[in-house]
Amino acid sequence: MKTKFRFSILLLAFFLVFSYTGSTVYAARLPGGNLSYMQRGSSVKELQSALNKLGYKISADGIYGPGTRSAVLAFQKKHSSLKNDGLYGPSTRAVMEKTLSDISKKPHKSEEASHDKEKDKPKAEAIRLPGRTLKYLEKSSDVKDLQIVLRKLGYKLSLDGSYGPGTRSAVLNFQKRHSNLKNNGIYDINTRTALLESLKNGLPSDTAKGKIAYLTFDDGPSKTNTPKILKILDDYNIKATFFVLGSMAEKQPSILKTIHEKGHSIGNHSYSHRYDYLYSKVNNFLGELDKTDRVLKNILGKDFNTTLLRFPGGSSGNNKANFRKAAMDKGYRNYDWNALNGDSEAAHVSSKKLIARLKETARGQKELVVLMHDTYGKETTVETLPQIIEYLKAQGYEFRALNE
Ligand SMILES: [Zn+2]
Repeated sequence: MKTKFRFSILLLAFFLVFSYTGSTVYAARLPGGNLSYMQRGSSVKELQSALNKLGYKISADGIYGPGTRSAVLAFQKKHSSLKNDGLYGPSTRAVMEKTLSDISKKPHKSEEASHDKEKDKPKAEAIRLPGRTLKYLEKSSDVKDLQIVLRKLGYKLSLDGSYGPGTRSAVLNFQKRHSNLKNNGIYDINTRTALLESLKNGLPSDTAKGKIAYLTFDDGPSKTNTPKILKILDDYNIKATFFVLGSMAEKQPSILKTIHEKGHSIGNHSYSHRYDYLYSKVNNFLGELDKTDRVLKNILGKDFNTTLLRFPGGSSGNNKANFRKAAMDKGYRNYDWNALNGDSEAAHVSSKKLIARLKETARGQKELVVLMHDTYGKETTVETLPQIIEYLKAQGYEFRALNE
């Protein structure tokens, strides 16, 4: 009698354990707490494998780079209760866990597929995208249809039915993420096809399968080096990102315009770059972000907007936690780097050393955010840029600009 009873207890325990692991099968695999941008490690890998299960095709390299952030952002955009910041934390975890467990509850793959197809049908019909090229400054309901779709894909713009600079810049940003599209900011049939594809996948369009390198240039624009860098990027047909200083942009408005017109991305890197002032008070820091934003809008037009931010000196460290939070609350996405050419490690760095530093810091990473400088005195950066591009190409990297 006693043994029988014990056996039943054992069975019950087994049952409990099984049903528990059954319903929360993914719980153990999703990291708790917050993951920070550019963090590395097994927690990031766990998140990446969960994202892959959800259909976001990203590399599970254990680095919280732009690709991972973009996938998290795309996931957040599909769930209205989540903040769209691309950062993984407890609330994103909770929704992700539920979504994963819903997927795992579906009994058969085939059923799941046919069910999804049915769900997609009415969705596809609800989306209208004009079947013709739209003219710049055109006002029509076709433009409004385009704006509605751009908004669905996360581009912030007004639905005024007018193809102004805001709409053009959203189209351009979208085009930059598709290597098969011309980067001209004009809506045409090819752009239409790519937009429909992105909507169908519910994904940001950044789906490069291989390795990606984001070249970034800080502290400019300068009269001497920036135009040469732009020329090299043109020669290679590469789009890059320029984290400019308000104080520098003010002095070189036409170079800033050229950067923008060529389809590169522009980010905010403060006004003065003075660490002592910027990091003594959160309000000093925010004030300089605003000041630079005003400079950019004055030069590029009031519709210009960038959410890209790079902290002077980088954003890491507990002493910058309040600064990171304040910038994020303002809607900025902060990008540090995970590779560099070391051009700011001394007043003058030789070409040989720059290339060596790049190779050494880029090694083994699938996604690179490369820190370089286009300000005065960085002549060797210009000199070595073609070699650095050639090297990264040979290593199989595709080049992208960060999305403004
Ligand atoms: Zn800097």
